Amino acid sequence: MDGTKRIAYCNDIDGLFFALGYPHIPSEWRLFIDSSTQSLKGVLLHIGNEQPSVPIVYGTGLKEDFDTMKLILELVNYELHAWSICCGLKVVAILTGVKQGFSKHQCFMCNWEGRKRELHYTDHKWKSRVIYQIGVDSIDHLPLVPASKIILLPLHIELGLVKNFIRALPKDSDAFKSLKSIFPKLTAAKIDAGVFNGPQIRKLTENSAFSGMLTPVERRAWDATKKVIEDFLGNKRADNYQNVVSEMIAAYKEMKVNMSLKIHFLHNHLDYFPKNLGDFSDEHGERFHQDIATIEQRYKGKSSCNMLSEYCWSICRDTTQEQHKRRCLRSTFSNV
Ligand SMILES: [Zn+2]
Repeated sequence: MDGTKRIAYCNDIDGLFFALGYPHIPSEWRLFIDSSTQSLKGVLLHIGNEQPSVPIVYGTGLKEDFDTMKLILELVNYELHAWSICCGLKVVAILTGVKQGFSKHQCFMCNWEGRKRELHYTDHKWKSRVIYQIGVDSIDHLPLVPASKIILLPLHIELGLVKNFIRALPKDSDAFKSLKSIFPKLTAAKIDAGVFNGPQIRKLTENSAFSGMLTPVERRAWDATKKVIEDFLGNKRADNYQNVVSEMIAAYKEMKVNMSLKIHFLHNHLDYFPKNLGDFSDEHGERFHQDIATIEQRYKGKSSCNMLSEYCWSICRDTTQEQHKRRCLRSTFSNV
């Protein structure tokens, strides 16, 4: 590709799976797109996390935009395989053609308006996006994939809930001030912004002293958040998950928690989340993220094809036909 843009991708998904030793059944896999300004990675994760993750595309020097996503999907022959896609909200917006940045209508399911706070936490009926029309309700492009293929990551929703809850706490409250001592290594900027990762959220939910410092209204919202994390976003959905989510929304309304797009999804599109949401847990995505980061360091500036091949080979290195598989795997990757 031009300049510093480089993409290595799998040109034969079925061949790659054959070399790895398991059948490729697209409905059993999800495409996880991990995009940042440094690199873009596409990896197939098994729904249910029983099989190892399989990277199929890796790009550097790419813009996080519509043209890049379109190209990536074409390279991996997405139309043929049509896997479910897991990604962050920025990539979701690109894939569904919604204008990026602080657009008026950020939701790919309806014409929800983030700025109309007076209508949040009400029964207002937002208009569903039945037809995607360029130039209407913040649509910039026709969607690259149907909305039904997009899976919002449970961990991302969790991070979003905790972020807005923390931001709604008064800065001079004992509970908020205690965050500094609970997370001594976190910067004040991150604490102020409510930016915590999964393990940090677990640490906070288990901290009874923090809960004890909350006012009754805050305590209600915090307890409801913990319940949603466990009973809706966790591995197993509780039978009464709708009540659990409703209680959190009511508690957030009372506490005047600012509604984000993620909270809007729980409020207005609860049916959209798949029943087996727990099977889409980010555990494997996170592990892939760490593993590939280690390999990336070693391959800095060198062939991305070999890097993907090595990662795939590491998946099956314990098998008996190592040399044969190494050759097979190399031939399934190409550069653009
Ligand atoms: Zn919506």
